[in-house]
Amino acid sequence: MTDRTDETDDTHRPGDQPEQHRVTDGGVTAAPGREGAIPEEDTNVTEVFPEGNLDLRAGADNCYKCTTCDTSCPVAEVDEEFPGPKFQGPEQWRLKRKEDADIDGSIMSCSNCMRCDSACPSDVPLSQMHNEARGEYVDDQMDALSTEYVRNRILSNYRTSAELASKVPQLANFAMNFGPARWVMEKVLGVTKEREFPEFAEQTFREWWRERGGAHVQSSEKRIAYFHGCYSNYNTPEVAKAMVRVFEHFGYEILVPPQKCSGTPMFANGMLDDARRDAETNVENLASAIADGADVIASCTSCSLSLRQEYPELFDIDGVEDVSDNTFEAVEYLRIYEDLEGELADAELDGQSFGYHGPCHARNQGLHRQAVELFRDVDGVRVEDVGDSCSGISGTYGWKEEKYDTSMKIGEEMFEHMKHAEGEAGMTECPTCAMQMEHGTGYDIYHPLELLEDALVD
Ligand code: SF4
Ligand code: SF4
Repeated sequence: MTDRTDETDDTHRPGDQPEQHRVTDGGVTAAPGREGAIPEEDTNVTEVFPEGNLDLRAGADNCYKCTTCDTSCPVAEVDEEFPGPKFQGPEQWRLKRKEDADIDGSIMSCSNCMRCDSACPSDVPLSQMHNEARGEYVDDQMDALSTEYVRNRILSNYRTSAELASKVPQLANFAMNFGPARWVMEKVLGVTKEREFPEFAEQTFREWWRERGGAHVQSSEKRIAYFHGCYSNYNTPEVAKAMVRVFEHFGYEILVPPQKCSGTPMFANGMLDDARRDAETNVENLASAIADGADVIASCTSCSLSLRQEYPELFDIDGVEDVSDNTFEAVEYLRIYEDLEGELADAELDGQSFGYHGPCHARNQGLHRQAVELFRDVDGVRVEDVGDSCSGISGTYGWKEEKYDTSMKIGEEMFEHMKHAEGEAGMTECPTCAMQMEHGTGYDIYHPLELLEDALVD
């Protein structure tokens, strides 16, 4: 079988893709050498806040000032200086058009949890507006030599640091949690010393995949392309391995295409050029897999949301709609195409209890109840929903020294509910929510795929 594991492999080419995509480029130009991907005449027409052709006015005009979004915003709830999603979206958009005003710096206090998107009864594209405004703010108003910019760039390009750290995991694990080094990182870069850095695995998922010889199942009927994301590759390969074993149990051939970061941390930090660069690689390789008959599966709900929603909202790349239309979260996919509940009916687990947190980005995809529903009738396991609050970490947000307290205040409700739930373990699909759950409670946190592996795979 073709070796699909080389990240530098450029043999994958998108199949025939639809010619026309919405021009939603956020003013972001193509990466060097990729300029031809967007017709030249379209490259500058997508700046939302200036007079761009990506006209979100209809969306902004849909806002009837009900303030539902403001009441759903976890940051506005604990930070009285944050003006809320209505201001960051439609109000700022109008102000900018009328007076050519600067973007308000408070856009950097939006964590990109995207709860306002699903709260709005009028389909105002709030997170799209926020992403575009944040990108413009960072490009035009933030000093690229400032500590904030440098820190945010490092945090949002986590994959680059993780790739280096994973070459020397033991040294990296020691250095990243060495007290004096953490103190310096906080003072110099503004990365909070309150959190423990997640450990890098001795062997990345991709190294494991290569070592086992790739896919163990071949099928032209049931084929998926796994978008593992950065965290499952470098930090929690056990989640990625569980995904492989569970899907192979159901007879799927698994492709592991070359891939980069989904862009989630880059959107949240306004680094749209970086996000576009990685999105070009991801879309090219995932579209190629789709042309080979695969559906795209992510085990992280922020990665699946990014591929499904943020890519087509922000980037005009050949194949982006195709990738968006054919991407699923792992458990969601199995619930749609397999009799997962039927398989689980005979499963027996040995008395495990979990407090389950539905990530905000799972909520946006309607997936925040799936783990609870899935395991409800399984003998020997209890998965208890710990409520609908935000965990507060929002990827890189809770790692910023000046946002740490806000992040922990937002998380308080979830910590309390976890402590009241049965057992001393947690469950979620989002790796950074898992960090926050562990940080706030001291519990071990699992992915639903790990429990599925326990239940179904010998
Ligand atoms: S929820 Fe929607 S309609 Fe209501 S204020 Fe917010 S953006 Fe406007
Ligand atoms: S994305 Fe989240 S933090 Fe940002 S404005 Fe919307 S609800 Fe608030």
